[in-house]
Amino acid sequence: MTRTVVVATFNRHKLREITGILPGLDLELKSLADFPGAVPPDEDGATLEENALKKARSAAAFTGLWALADDTGLEVDALGGAPGVRSARYAGEAATPAGNNALLLAELSGVPPEKRTARFVCVMALVPPSGEPVISRGVLEGRICAGPRGGEGFGYDPLFELAGSARTLAELTAAEKNSLSHRALALKGILPALRALS
Ligand code: IMP
Repeated sequence: MTRTVVVATFNRHKLREITGILPGLDLELKSLADFPGAVPPDEDGATLEENALKKARSAAAFTGLWALADDTGLEVDALGGAPGVRSARYAGEAATPAGNNALLLAELSGVPPEKRTARFVCVMALVPPSGEPVISRGVLEGRICAGPRGGEGFGYDPLFELAGSARTLAELTAAEKNSLSHRALALKGILPALRALS
């Protein structure tokens, strides 16, 4: 029987990417949107690991299923690693991706290209209904460009130029992003545990 894994997110972009990255496993991936009454926990952890575990544990407790969660942060060197664990709420509690991106560009105004280095860090946690979690981390290096480019992806993608490339993540096709992203790299570490479930 195909096992269901709940992906602890309401973000359809994330669910689509995770589904697209995972090779043909005999698993049914559902998002929290498939579980009426599910609410995301506050992302108030001090680290990406804490937040990923918190999200996965809360989804596993609510559904009684294995749960997969990712917490992602954008670390910008010229900003001392900000927005980091606060990436979702960089421009405030009710922040939108457009607001976050506008603030990031404003904070980096006047910073020359060679000093705009940054990385996406994705922490993925797989949590059983009871028992020990599996945690994995993926890092993608790049730099913040002068203005948004590209219509694919989501979040900070239009501002994130890949290291050694002239393209932003939003200028890649979904398949291209899924072949190299921080999310794909983090999922690699979880794959053996997911295989064992399928
Ligand atoms: P969270 O992991 O859902 O807490 O996301 C943190 C913040 O990073 C949110 O503002 C997301 O829009 C953004 N984000 C997460 N993953 C990505 C990505 O793959 N590309 C660009 N932005 C992302």
